[in-house]
Parts: sequence; C-alpha cells; structure tokens
Amino acid sequence: MASNRQGAGGKGPGKGWVSDRHPLSTPVQYVKGVGPAVSAKLAKMGVMNVGDLLALTPIRYLDRRRILPIAELSPGRDRTVVGRIVASGVSFMGRRRKRIYEILVDDGTGKISAKFFYFNAKYMQQKFLTETKVLLSGDVSEFRTTLQFIHPEMETLGSAEEESASTGRIVPVYPLTEGIYQKQMRRIVRNAWDGFNSHIQPIFPEEFVERHRLSDPWKCLQEIHFPAPDLDPELLAIGRSAAHRTLIFDEFFFVELGLALKRRRTAQKKGIAFPRSDAMHERFLSALPFELTGAQRRVTGEIFGDMDSGKPMNRLLQGDVGSGKTVVALAAALRAIDADFQAAIMAPTEILAEQHFETITGIATPMGISHGLITSSVKGAERSSFLSSLRNGTLSLAVGTHALIQEGVEFARLGLIVVDEQHRFGVMQRAAIRRKGQAEEGEEPTFPDVLVMTATPIPRTLAMTLYGDLDVSVIDELPQGRLPVMTKLYDEGRRDKLYAGMRHELGNGRQAYVVYPLIEESEKLDLKNATDMARELSRIFEPEFRVALLHGKMRPQEKEEIMASFKAGSVHVLCATSVVEVGVDVPNASVMVIEHAERFGLAQLHQLRGRVGRSKFQSYCILMADYRRSEEAVERLKVMTETTDGFKIAEKDLELRGPGEFLGTRQSGLPPFRIANLARDVGILSQAREAAFKLVEADPEISDPKYARVKEVLLTRWSGKLSLADIS
Ligand code: ADP
Ligand code: MG
Repeated sequence: MASNRQGAGGKGPGKGWVSDRHPLSTPVQYVKGVGPAVSAKLAKMGVMNVGDLLALTPIRYLDRRRILPIAELSPGRDRTVVGRIVASGVSFMGRRRKRIYEILVDDGTGKISAKFFYFNAKYMQQKFLTETKVLLSGDVSEFRTTLQFIHPEMETLGSAEEESASTGRIVPVYPLTEGIYQKQMRRIVRNAWDGFNSHIQPIFPEEFVERHRLSDPWKCLQEIHFPAPDLDPELLAIGRSAAHRTLIFDEFFFVELGLALKRRRTAQKKGIAFPRSDAMHERFLSALPFELTGAQRRVTGEIFGDMDSGKPMNRLLQGDVGSGKTVVALAAALRAIDADFQAAIMAPTEILAEQHFETITGIATPMGISHGLITSSVKGAERSSFLSSLRNGTLSLAVGTHALIQEGVEFARLGLIVVDEQHRFGVMQRAAIRRKGQAEEGEEPTFPDVLVMTATPIPRTLAMTLYGDLDVSVIDELPQGRLPVMTKLYDEGRRDKLYAGMRHELGNGRQAYVVYPLIEESEKLDLKNATDMARELSRIFEPEFRVALLHGKMRPQEKEEIMASFKAGSVHVLCATSVVEVGVDVPNASVMVIEHAERFGLAQLHQLRGRVGRSKFQSYCILMADYRRSEEAVERLKVMTETTDGFKIAEKDLELRGPGEFLGTRQSGLPPFRIANLARDVGILSQAREAAFKLVEADPEISDPKYARVKEVLLTRWSGKLSLADIS
C-alpha cells in the first residue's frame, strides 16, 4: 500500500491527513466556492486537498458574541459593533495630512469612525455605501477625545443569514495568502466542512483516546472552526482549548511514531561489540596536554558503553562551543581502530575538516595510526590513493567533509562514524551515513556505530523531536580556567575605541577575528564589504600586525594557507565571512568582532563568539551594530551581552524566531508544525512521545488491526521518508 507513496517527495509528516484515495484527499478545487484560481492561491499556503483545508488552524479568534452599543464602548481589544454607515470617504489626518479612508457608523446609541491607512478607494466606495448595515470588529483606541477603530475587520450584513454567520459567536481568523479574504476563507472552510465532515473518522482506538484524554477528531475540528458560544475564547485564542490539545497531540504523535520506528529498526540491527581497549585509551589520555573534564569522562563512558554492546550506537553528543567534543570523538575512534576497524570523522566545512585533520595528525602520528583527509578539493592521484587505502583497509582513520559519504567511497571495515556539527547535515542524511558501513551481501549486515555531535545548544524539547531516534549525551562543563567571554555592544561611534582595544590585545600577543555577514542574495556586495574591511584593517594595523582576508569563495588551497598562518600566529587579524562560524579552534585568539551583528541570528552569534574564550586568557566579543534601527535587534543583541550560556541563548532564540527558523526546517528534514508550537507545547510533546514509543515497544510492526488507521496516517504523513523496511 505504501509503495505508491514512496518518493512522493516534499511532503513531510504533518501534511496530508489521509491516504491518497480517501475523500479528504479530494483536491480543494472541488470544494464549493473554490475554482482553479483560488485553489492556486491555496496551494501557495500548502493547502492542496480538503484534509489540508480542514487542518488549517485559525491563528486567533474574534469574540463576536457580544455586540456592544457604541455608546458603551471603551478602548480595548476585540470589540464588536453593528450599525449603519452614515458617511464615508477619503479624508486627511494629522499634521502630515496623511490620506486615509474613513467610515462613520451609527447604531442609534452613538457614532464611531473606522480609519483605514491602506485602502483601495474605489473598492471601499462601491462596497461600503451609505445606509449599508455593517459589522465592525477590532481594537478600539482613543484619538484625542473620541474613540475609533483602526483597520477593523469590516463586513456588510446584507441578509439575516449573513448576520447570523458573523455575529453571536466566536469567529475564527485564518492565516491568509495574497488574494484571499478572511470572509472568503471562512466560507471556503465552511463549505469544505459541510461537504466532507462525514468522512472525518477517529484515528485512534477508543482505549488510546481515553488513556491520553483525547477528543474525537470530528469534534475537535468542529470546535476549532466553529467554536460553540460557551467556549472560553481566551483558551481558544492561545491555542489551549481541549480541541487544540488533541490536534497538537496528534501532530506530535505521528512525528514521534516515525522516529520511534526508526530507532527501533536501528536497535534491532546487528552492530559491533568492540573489545575493550584500556591500554589504547590510557596512551591517548597521556598524549593529551590536559586532563579530561568530568563531563568529558562521563560522556566517554556512555559512548564506550554503547561500543561494548552488540547493538549499533546511535548517539548524539551535545556540548556547548568550546566544551571539548573533539577529544571525546577521538577517544571513540581510537577504540574502534584498536579493535581493527576503521573510523571516520565527518565535518560540515572544509576548514573544519582540515582543522580536525591537523588536530588528529598531532595525536595519530606519534601513535602510529594511519589517517587521511578527503574533501571535494582532494583530487586526482591523491584522491584515488585515499579511496583505495580506505577500500583495502590500510587507512584506519578518515577525516573529511560530506565527500566521505559520496558514491564511490568504500570502507573495508567501518566501525564508527562521527558526524561533527550534525545540525549542518540534517536528519535524513544519517541514513546515508549508516549505509556506508554495511557488510557484504549474503551475511546479516552489520552496522557501524554513529556518533553525531552538535554545539547548537538545542533546547531539550526540541532535541527530543529532532533527534527523537537518538540517545543523548551532554557535556555540561567547560574545561577549567576558562573565563566567560566579555561581550559588548558598540555602534559606529565607538569604532575608534574598538580599534584601540584590538591593538591592546594584539600587543599582548593575542589574535583577533573580524567577521562580516555573508548573505547569499547579496553575496557580491558583502564580499566587497569584507574585502574593504580587510583593506581598512591593514591600513590601521599593518605593518605592526598582519591582517588577512578569508571567505568562502576563495580557492581551497588559499583558505587552507590563511587558516594555517592564523593558527601558527603569523597572521594576527583574520577578517572573515561567517566561514569561521563553526568549529574553528585557535585558542590564542581573544577578540571576536562581529560587524553588522544585527544581521545574525542568536545561535549564529553564539557560535561565532565560541571561537574565542578557548584559553586561560580573558576574551572579548564586540558586536558592532546599527541596533537602534530595530527593537527586535536590540533585544537579540542584549541577550548576547547578558549570558554566555548556550542553552539560555537557544531558548531565547526559539522564543524570538520560532522553531522553524531556529532549525532551518529544510535542513532538519522535519515538518513545520501546523498547529503545534514547540516553544509552547512541551508538555504535550512529552506525552505524545511517550505514547508513540510505548506503542512501538508493544507492537513494533503496528500490526494490531485496531491501529490500522494509525498505520495508514503514519505512512501518509511520512510519505517517502520512512523506508519500507521501517514499517512493513
Ligand atoms: P567543541 O566542543 O567546540 O568542538 P573543541 O573540541 O574544539 O570544542 O575544544 C575546544 C578547545 O578546548 C580545544 O582547543 C581543545 O584542545 C581544548 N580542550 C578540550 N578539552 C579540554 C580539557 N579537558 N582541558 C583543557 N582544554 C581542553
Ligand atoms: Mg567542534
């Protein structure tokens, strides 16, 4: 049944409520009131079929149960009045004589005016004729001494029918797209409901519904779209009614169910039980110039526990920037190598791959471990010799970019893959990574251990969803003696002070980064800025100190040379684009200047700041920003000056930008949630997750006929993203 859905592509879980042949899969075009033109507009919102339309959750509600006499109005939110238009037309307001459209409405008790700053005069004149009965709803404010509506929702009440549809009840406000009006959307949803509601069926068996205190989906959708007048509009407004809870649970449940199945399938696979290799580990520890922190020791133990067992490891190692994840990864790699397997470490950028390679060389060479580097710029003979030594097993430790998992790369005996900065790769790529390690055909395939690492301090709730199929280890401690980075917010007026501060640090033997934003759409322009900046910095700091430029458009070899000179300390100021954002480790650098800081998101700023504060020296992060332009930017940048705790910053980022932005949904491979809100609905997420994992534990194939609908919905929502082997 699922085969025809494989490759449906683009459709994530959360989309599509029902299987392809179900009546709710009827294209929206066949809903009364929706023709080809409107259906094209709905498609832009991701609304393709009737099920999507019924899943379109109102963003808020208007309480129109109480029509107030105009005489009794007071300023405030969500007021509704009904009256007749007594005058209307274009007028001018304020000292600037701003052109507005004004409509004066009288209900017999008094008059109130509605003002519109954006309007189509012709349309307004035709639609809102004098004497027309209208409903106005919106926020009432006080202007001088009179009350007014600014941009209220306004509807003509021609017939008694129209009047009853719009008044006396709580009215939903839907998300819209250009060319569709609120009233029209309400009518479309109403028509979809009238035509198709009999096809909405319960998905879950009764005892499940009871256990999780869910409501019937039919009732939920009815309540969401046509709330009964006795409901609490406050609860509706913030998405906390019983119906909301059920729909949110439902949305989370199917995501978690997919993850639970993936996890179960991984756990059932045959992995490698690596023999203990304490001697190797001891040698490694004594080769390190420092002691491991308590947290590093603890997570190493957790990882070794996985390596002891015959099940494939599938673990996420989370740790704030600078917490020292690399050595933990190395410890695991060495254990695999000691057991005569190969290990691979994959990084998201060439710069980072190079850096890991260098770090690893420092340790692997004296220990006599063969290691190699592969990126897209390793070509020709070098590449083929790398590939053949991987294939014949003479290469023990491979470091590289995603070039490592490309076709044509074969390992002889891959035991462990480490994926650094996993958030740069995305959920779905893990499958490709794992496949690399499968043993030859015929035998029962064994799977390598997978350790993914991330410095993106993902709030726990989000980690549970994004990495719902992983075990999680956390490094929650920085190496000893680290001082928190001092962060300052500067504007142009303090540029001289900035340069003086930099000069002071450089004079003390430290180094500095100056980072320019690189935004794809205006790449040229920004590159020019970084280049200009490098020139200005040279003028200021050279010849005493050396300034170099680094950006993503440079040839790999050039980048490599510049990074190497910065690392070696012969370049003192590195003027770079955000290519240095992830992973770069030059402990002697103590200054991070971020130009146009307002253009960066919090998570990115935190990553950038994490490039300094990696030694015992006090480090500084200066955010240069035109922050007075935007309140939002001030709030964001203030967070940076107030805390260096990555988790706090992540929570704040989630709050400010929402999870979609935060994760880059495209990368994460997970759906944008339609109704659930990860920042708000944590509790429901945990419940849904627990329910999903329990179900999979009790019935791994979901073969109980009671759950037939659940299985069907699961396959539709994950269309193409759960392999047939995951559920069959
Ligand atoms: P991240 O977790 O951000 O990837 P790295 O692995 O790059 O962090 O480590 C950051 C820096 O801290 C490196 O210079 C590393 O050598 C150093 N380091 C790691 N662990 C310790 C430790 N236990 N004590 C002192 N320095 C450490
Ligand atoms: Mg790192």
